[in-house]
Amino acid sequence: MRVVVVGAGVAGLVTAIELAERGASVEVLERGARLGERACAWAAGGMIAPWCEAETGEEEAARLGPEALGWWPRQIAEISVEGTLVVASRRDQAELTRFSRRTDHFEWADAARLGELEPDLAGRFDRALFFPEEAHVDPRAALPALQRRLEALGGSVRFGVSADPDEIDAKAVVDCRGFGARETLKDLRGVRGEMVMLRTEEISLKRPIRLLHPRIALYVIPRADHVFMVGATAMESASRAKISARSAVELINGAYALHPAFGEAEVVETCAEVRPSFPDNLPRVLREGRVVRVNGLYRNGFLLSPTFGRLAADAVFELESGREADRQRLAS
Ligand SMILES: Cc1cc2nc3c(=O)[nH]c(=O)nc-3n(C[C@H](O)[C@H](O)[C@H](O)COP(=O)(O)OP(=O)(O)OC[C@H]3O[C@@H](n4cnc5c(N)ncnc54)[C@H](O)[C@@H]3O)c2cc1C
Repeated sequence: MRVVVVGAGVAGLVTAIELAERGASVEVLERGARLGERACAWAAGGMIAPWCEAETGEEEAARLGPEALGWWPRQIAEISVEGTLVVASRRDQAELTRFSRRTDHFEWADAARLGELEPDLAGRFDRALFFPEEAHVDPRAALPALQRRLEALGGSVRFGVSADPDEIDAKAVVDCRGFGARETLKDLRGVRGEMVMLRTEEISLKRPIRLLHPRIALYVIPRADHVFMVGATAMESASRAKISARSAVELINGAYALHPAFGEAEVVETCAEVRPSFPDNLPRVLREGRVVRVNGLYRNGFLLSPTFGRLAADAVFELESGREADRQRLAS
């Protein structure tokens, strides 16, 4: 069965792999000249953190997210399973207690345990929450790895092709355009996210660290070559304008609060992207005739693509077996 997937973001590549593994002949069409050039996924933290995400009220994250913890290591080697640490300053200890009440799959770490886990944070915090099963990827390594995995399964990605899924001549089309589908999916909205990349050789971290704060949900994620991604803002806006001075100040201040050595770090990049989101912040798989759409991954594209890619592949093969339904909501 020949299937065309439009969009080589995280949803498109994951769905394409799901389809190729089930025997479909898959071609992905991507408007950008290279992977990530125009994808929200390129700006992401890449955290696969079902229980930390559940804390913000996204119950689906904890219910569906664990599937991703099995999916990613089966597909690519470029994944780190070191868990997540959540810390708060002495003044914000109530935030840490509140966080612990709203989630699970964690253990409390005292100052000594925290120092074992992250020696460079030793002595800086009295206690932390440790979520040992959570994982993270660097999207800029993970997306190319997904492309290689797809190619190994016989699929391909064609760049520089801006396509309308409803106009493509194929038995089945999967629309994974992210926010690029907003003209088709009228209730899709943008949630702007900004981040900065800092470089310093003064600190080493093994895993994402979340610093609780009453105003910003800040995290610092280690990348290769002494680079750290510091994210992320969340605003009701579809603007991809450069990061605001206020956001840059807040993010860098947050990193500085985690460790003062970030004050001397080089700012190597800033970035603003738009998270594709439905009004309830939940992803959807929708089917309209022979077009299946996967969208609304909001702040959980890496976490929830394995589940929604699987559901999209189910919908494609149901199409093949003749069980069609108009604009059917398959999952939310
Ligand atoms: C700062 C930030 C931090 C984040 N951190 C995390 C995190 O830690 N963990 C997590 O799980 N999620 C995170 N997210 C969310 C995640 O990035 C998104 O949920 C995810 O990228 C959405 O995936 P997508 O494939 O639907 O869209 P995208 O990643 O935007 O991909 C869509 C692709 O479709 C292409 N396209 C669009 N229109 C067309 C067309 N007409 N023809 C051909 N191609 C087209 C685009 O060029 C793009 O490549 C973060 C987001 C931001 C902004």
